[in-house]
Amino acid sequence: MQDLAEGVARFQRDVFPAKAELFARLATRHTLFISCSDARVVPELITGTEPGDLFVIRTAGNLVPAYSPESDGIAASIEYAVAALGVDDIVVCGHSACGAMTALAERHDLSGAPAVASWLRHADASVARTSADGDVSALVRQNVLAQLANLVTHPSVANALAQRMVALHGWVFDIPTGRVQDLTAPRAA
Ligand SMILES: [Zn+2]
Repeated sequence: MQDLAEGVARFQRDVFPAKAELFARLATRHTLFISCSDARVVPELITGTEPGDLFVIRTAGNLVPAYSPESDGIAASIEYAVAALGVDDIVVCGHSACGAMTALAERHDLSGAPAVASWLRHADASVARTSADGDVSALVRQNVLAQLANLVTHPSVANALAQRMVALHGWVFDIPTGRVQDLTAPRAA
């Protein structure tokens, strides 16, 4: 915690004064960015964006539960970003060596972590898309595509897509090289 406290003090002293105007102005938030909670994946850092640019949702394994009538915090955040903020783009960003995808690909015993095991069921379709056992990279890619499909089940997203108001993108961030692969770019399709 000492590191964090010093970081906050450094932010207030060295960083904030230069960005005070940025924080004061109305945030624009043109993009909804959904990534893994992994500490190595920092959306603003890898996209070179500033406060106000990204509306961010982070979950273990960058999983987006398919729409259900019993809404939750994730569904509410998606709806708010799309229907209220009117984001132009939605990015689902997976990453290399994802712990959640590794647990699934390598069939780890999750009996001691029932909440994790239950949450990872939202990747059932991702697992079903991969044939090669233990191929974490393949699962990471297929999971991004499966979560994009889950995203489309949310009425706000379906509506924005029908009106061509939003575009969906699937990315994979490679931690060792810093590269981002766009799975949904026309050439990658
Ligand atoms: Zn991860």
